[in-house]
Amino acid sequence: MQAAEQSTINNLQTVWNKRPLIISGPCSAETEEQLLSTAQRLAATGKINMLRAGIWKPRTKPGMFEGVGAKGLSWLQQAKKITGLPTTVEVATAKQVQDALTFDVDVLWIGARTTVNPFSVQEVADALKGVDIPVLIKNPVNPDMELWIGAVERIARAGIKNIGLIHRGFSSYGNTEYRNAPMWHLAIDMKLKHPEMPFINDPSHICGRRDILQEIMQKAVDLDYDGFIIESHIDPDNAWSDAKQQVTPEVLAEMLDAIIWRKEDVKSEAYHAALEKLRQQINQLDDELMQILGQRMKIAEQIGKYKKENNITILQTNRWNEIIERATAKGDKIGLSKDFISKYFDAVHMESINHQKNVLDS
Ligand code: PEP
Ligand code: MN
Repeated sequence: MQAAEQSTINNLQTVWNKRPLIISGPCSAETEEQLLSTAQRLAATGKINMLRAGIWKPRTKPGMFEGVGAKGLSWLQQAKKITGLPTTVEVATAKQVQDALTFDVDVLWIGARTTVNPFSVQEVADALKGVDIPVLIKNPVNPDMELWIGAVERIARAGIKNIGLIHRGFSSYGNTEYRNAPMWHLAIDMKLKHPEMPFINDPSHICGRRDILQEIMQKAVDLDYDGFIIESHIDPDNAWSDAKQQVTPEVLAEMLDAIIWRKEDVKSEAYHAALEKLRQQINQLDDELMQILGQRMKIAEQIGKYKKENNITILQTNRWNEIIERATAKGDKIGLSKDFISKYFDAVHMESINHQKNVLDS
């Protein structure tokens, strides 16, 4: 292996292991000038570790800008040469994988519209057999975790060792505050399943607009994400795709500066002792809650017996509404959100119904 080649590989491994790992660049490569200029201004901030650019754009409807195609890869190669930043592009077909590899793209990413389609993920995986390149996998557009897990498995089975996860939010019907609802709990579940993989937040596609990027970024840092993939453009308002969510490289640098970076741990005995004490209290309370929930289910079973003897349905809407109203009012007084109360009681109610159903069926 040539010395230069070896040094690029070492460098890429260093970048891959960087925390926070900051990937930025335009939604789409538009012209050579636009890409080179974005890359240079990003590099000048000194805060970016990798350059992204969409070359092939999966658009929801035909007739929109669908990316410049393979010719943009040589611009990206040029940008890498000038700035020293490793590069990443989205790939969705075997041909795109081959083209990206020909032009020395350093990292590939699988987009949300591809993760939903096992045929496409498999095609990309097959094209990657025997290739040593890191791959980032975005969550699927819909909140189906199995598709995300499946995509990771397909890419891993192709022999790819460095796999990272990108959380870009989930689409939903109707207008929400976000372009793609973050559904943090789903993403965190995935992060906990794969603690060894870099877990990257994509605030651009979650927000769909500039004004709430900062708060999403802070939340991701607070939740111990490993970095960001965030779109930037020299002239955001006139971007050919995703104009509303892009920021200039300089604004991005300011946003990164404004983040309060938190670490997962600290070497202070007093801190650990205090935390340990509070955690024991939490464990104790959790144990008590479980005991009480167990008792609650036993009572539900007794009710089930009466219902069985009298041939009554399990679900009684009036009673259920009464429980929710009572709990919401009480919860409000002690600082529990309506949303939490509703989710919690839905879960308790479902469990209760299952216990009663067992009695009815016995
Ligand atoms: C993108 O990163 O520009 C993109 C198309 O994102 P997603 O796959 O998350 O929609
Ligand atoms: Mn985009």
